[in-house]
Amino acid sequence: MATMANQSQIFRLPTELVQHIASFLSDDDLCSFSRTCVSFAAQVLPSNSSVWRSKFEDQYDSVQHHASEELKIEYQTRSFVLSQAISFRHGETEQGYLWLEVLQTMILEALLYTGREDPFQPSSKNLERIAETIQHTDFLSRPMTGYGDETVSQPSRLFCAIQLCLTHLSFSTNYSRPCSRDDYNIEYVYSYASLFHVPLVVQGKVDLKTLLHIRNFWQRHFTSSREDTFLKSYQGISERPDTWTCPFEPRNTLKTFWLGYYSCIHPYPGTAKDLEISQTCADVGAHTAELCANSISLEIDGNAQNWPQLLNEIIPTCADCPTRHFFHGTQKFYSTIDSPACYLVRGFFEPIGEPQGGIPGWARICFITYDPNRDILGAFSQEGDGQTIEQRGSTNSSFPDEDWPPSDLEWSFHYIHGFEGVILPGGRIMLGQWLDIKEEGALDCDRGPVICWDA
Ligand SMILES: [Zn+2]
Repeated sequence: MATMANQSQIFRLPTELVQHIASFLSDDDLCSFSRTCVSFAAQVLPSNSSVWRSKFEDQYDSVQHHASEELKIEYQTRSFVLSQAISFRHGETEQGYLWLEVLQTMILEALLYTGREDPFQPSSKNLERIAETIQHTDFLSRPMTGYGDETVSQPSRLFCAIQLCLTHLSFSTNYSRPCSRDDYNIEYVYSYASLFHVPLVVQGKVDLKTLLHIRNFWQRHFTSSREDTFLKSYQGISERPDTWTCPFEPRNTLKTFWLGYYSCIHPYPGTAKDLEISQTCADVGAHTAELCANSISLEIDGNAQNWPQLLNEIIPTCADCPTRHFFHGTQKFYSTIDSPACYLVRGFFEPIGEPQGGIPGWARICFITYDPNRDILGAFSQEGDGQTIEQRGSTNSSFPDEDWPPSDLEWSFHYIHGFEGVILPGGRIMLGQWLDIKEEGALDCDRGPVICWDA
């Protein structure tokens, strides 16, 4: 047997130090290192070795509540699962579902992590790992199960929830290529041939699938040069979701300034096939306004009459949502020069208590944008009085005191659009649908998809 004097210095190091050194090795090097000597393996590989916590915290957001033993298993599971080549072309295989579950755990931790509000660690390691993983898959480039093959089963709520949580990455060319028109059903996107608005949230349950179709529509039209629609306008905005480093905000409160787009289609397509071919007015120049982003400024206003019964009959508040906050605000076209057109906004938002697809932090937001008929809805404020909507917009004055609530929808407004949407976990993106409130119930009622993000 060799004496201590014959051994290299490293054999005499205390276990803690060996573990510390080993924690700097890559997974492959750690494996080789352990194979060189039984003693090293015995020091670094057991689940109570500090190597696992060090390696875990180097790669992922630190989660205090895990014991070291769990961290070893969690670390090794993630390393293995995330390195798999994954595809949902043939639906959700068992392997695919496991992959989704690992992403779900990491998103949950990221939501908790930013909740700690550490000013020195604003971005989340988990989200960085997810982004790296995504780069090596087509998860966001073909963001639907089956890739257009309708015989493949519908995506699970877990699949949809994770897709939606990663919306900011899906607009980034670093992580995604433009998806195909096959990755969304344009009839769902527009609620084609619906006589009445179909709610996106029913009894606290979010219609994740429709939201994903809407998201994929925007993904395609924001990123594909084969669609001559929103791409140039979107690229022209500096504050875009694909430029974010911190997609999940620490506090889940209502953001007050939003940018976004809505899409319409004119004339209303007679058949679904027509809609499939021409997906938006934004490509024909007939509705140039659609090419311009909208900005919406909101201000909390506790008056429940911001959503009077007349509107509640069309877009009802959700009885299952525990709290509700009302707001008012203004909407205008977003451009570098001060845009004159300005509409008024009233609505509410309600956090959704239940997790969706296993992930918490969703909220519902509903509002109208409108141009009041001042012969009927009189205005009293100094700023608003005697001024047209256009003047109010350019002077950026406060919300007017006006006769409210309206007694009818037909005569009180020159224009009134309703919107129902869902704010995704992280609080920075809303997806949903708009409709022309005055035409609700008519077969050719204007309606379509909307997206807005925190700016
Ligand atoms: Zn149009």
